[in-house]
This record gives sequence, structure tokens and C-alpha cells, in this order.
Amino acid sequence: MIAVDSCCGASLREEVVCYFCGRLLQPFVEWRCPSCGGPGELVHETEFKPSKIKKNIHSMWRYREMLPPSMRSSILTLGEGLTPVCQTISPNIFMKLEYTAPTGSFKDRGSAALFTSLRNLVKDVKGVCEDSSGNAGASIAAYSAAAGLVCRVYCGENITVEKALQVRVYGAELVVVKGSREDVSEAAQREAVERGLVYVGHAWSPYFIEGMKTVAYEIAEQFRWDLPDRIYLPVSAGTLLLGLVKGFSDLLEAGLIDRIPALTAVQTTYRPSLYEAFKGVKLGKRDEKPSIADALTLENPPRLRQMVEELKAVGGDVDVVSDEDIRKALKQLGLSGVYAEPSAAVAYAGVRNRLDELLYSGEKVLVIVTGFGCKATQHMQLVE
Ligand SMILES: [Zn+2]
Repeated sequence: MIAVDSCCGASLREEVVCYFCGRLLQPFVEWRCPSCGGPGELVHETEFKPSKIKKNIHSMWRYREMLPPSMRSSILTLGEGLTPVCQTISPNIFMKLEYTAPTGSFKDRGSAALFTSLRNLVKDVKGVCEDSSGNAGASIAAYSAAAGLVCRVYCGENITVEKALQVRVYGAELVVVKGSREDVSEAAQREAVERGLVYVGHAWSPYFIEGMKTVAYEIAEQFRWDLPDRIYLPVSAGTLLLGLVKGFSDLLEAGLIDRIPALTAVQTTYRPSLYEAFKGVKLGKRDEKPSIADALTLENPPRLRQMVEELKAVGGDVDVVSDEDIRKALKQLGLSGVYAEPSAAVAYAGVRNRLDELLYSGEKVLVIVTGFGCKATQHMQLVE
């Protein structure tokens, strides 16, 4: 248990425990449980009250009183959060444009939260190591730069030129690793120890998820507490999905909403790990060629079991789409003024495959557009 002094002098508490066995974990040092290998879960007392929202702060930090104590002072921010919601394609379909974030993807919420806790909880940090398909790497690199820390980003060979350039322009060292996405993670974890750096892998970090829950808070505020019926989002490591569940659960517990929107996680036929685990099936037709959704590459995400359990608990669902579906979705999004990267268009591809049904139902559908099209130009050239 860590005690953090709040601004009013009271001592607030938070702790990280193993999601599987409940063992207490040392923040940022034990990034996975030494007993069972499970991921950490951040536990802190919170009560969401609309009166606690700092309405004069136009970023995710307007919710800082609802975040863990280690995120309530010395905030590291590049202005992330409070992304726009627009109505497009149909009167009942809304898009939350997370690609308007400082580095062009939703990951900035997680990075800002993680680095704020890191500098409040760990002394003498030399630098950090991250592994990523690209967007989280670019984001971690940007926030490392803002924090004045050395940063090494490990990525696979299929990282897009634009994401690789982002990492380098932010001053981080980009290390390209041959092999699977999991091989990339292992290299980052190993070298963090060898080089005396903090491993901040976003797929493992419970601090990253805390930042993501601000998406749920924002949706509630932007929809004036009359939530969408359904939310579609792309899923790989699951930080956005778990953040949404956590954020909406806070609102439900506070009695501010009476239900959690039906969450539909969308994946590709190339990497359908959550789909298969959630449905208890093996996808018959599985693509061999890497998908144009280059950000959705994890075969065995560390929080897979947690995702299945939490998505089932809130009555959610999982869908899969093909590259052809993604291309059609990108084209339709473009024609409505939304320039998403393919990995972000995966969510709308899931909507598009059921468009008639969703339009007929009249339900309010929100699509989370996670990354900007300029991050994957070579894939966008395939859209006609
Ligand atoms: Zn454990």
C-alpha cells in the first residue's frame, strides 16, 4: 500500500495487486506478479461526483479528483483528452475522435497517467523501455521527452514509416525486433533490466488503464449522462476496453447512470485472440498475411483472461472483420470527413457490417476512432 499526500494534507491510499492471485505488487518494479505471472490491477478508493469535475480544465485532467492519488499532483500533460464527438453517416451514429490527441492516438491518455504516477512514485528514474506496434511507442516517446527521460521503444518489423518517425522525432531510440509481437515484448523486458531502465509496457501497466477510464467519463459528460446504447471499439492489448469498463462501473456505482452501454470489441481475422477466447471457438478462416490494421498484432495479450471476464460481466460482445471490411469502412469514413488509420477503422467496419440492423433499431451507436490516418499512409493508398 502506498500513501500519497494530497493537496489538503490528508493521506490517500492506492495499491497494485495481482489480478489473478491478489498478491501486492511493487509499483513499476513488479510489472507482473512474481508468484503467478498475472498483470497488476490498481486499487484505490474513489467516488465519482460531477461536482468534482474541474470544468475549467479542458483535458482529461478535469477528472483528476477521480483518478488514483499518485495522479493528482505534478501532472505531466500534453493536453490529452476531451476529444470531440461528431455525428456522421447517420443521425444515430456518433464518432469519438480520439485521433485528435497530441500524438494522434488514444494512447496519450494512458501515457500521461503512467508518467504522472511514475514521477510521483519512483525516485531517480533514468529512463523507460516500451514495446509497441507503433502508436503506444510514439506516445510513450512523446511523454518521455516531456518528462526529460531516456526512452527506448521496441517494435516489430511491420511498424509504419510514420509511427517509426514519430518515435525518433520525439528523441527516443527505436529498436526493431524480428519475430512475433511477443518477441518484441520479451526484448524490451530483458533490456530494461540490463540497462537499468523502467519497463513501462502499456499492455501490462495498470496506470495506463487508469488514464483510459477518462474516455468513459467524457462520453457520459458529452452525452449529458444519457449514454449511447452501443459502443464499438478496436481491441488488441485491451487497455481501452478495460478502461471503459472501469470508468462506466465507477459511474454506475455512483448512481449517475443506470446501465453500461453494450460494448462491442472488434478485432481482425488476422489476430482474433479475444474473439476466440470470448466465444470459446477457433476461427475457421484465419488470415496468414498481416492485416492492414497494423496496430492490432498481439496474439496473446497479457490481459486476455481479464478482458473475457470483464466483458462478459458487463454483457458485451466481440466481432471480427477482414481487411476488405476495413478498406470499405475507411472509404465510407473518408467520405464522411473522418480520416482514421486502418486499425481505428476496424471499429466502424464492425458497425458497417451491421449497418441496416443498427439504423433500423434507432439505437444510439458510438464508434471510438482511435488513431489518425496519417499514421499509416502506405495502407491508406490501398483505399479506393
Ligand atoms: Zn499473482
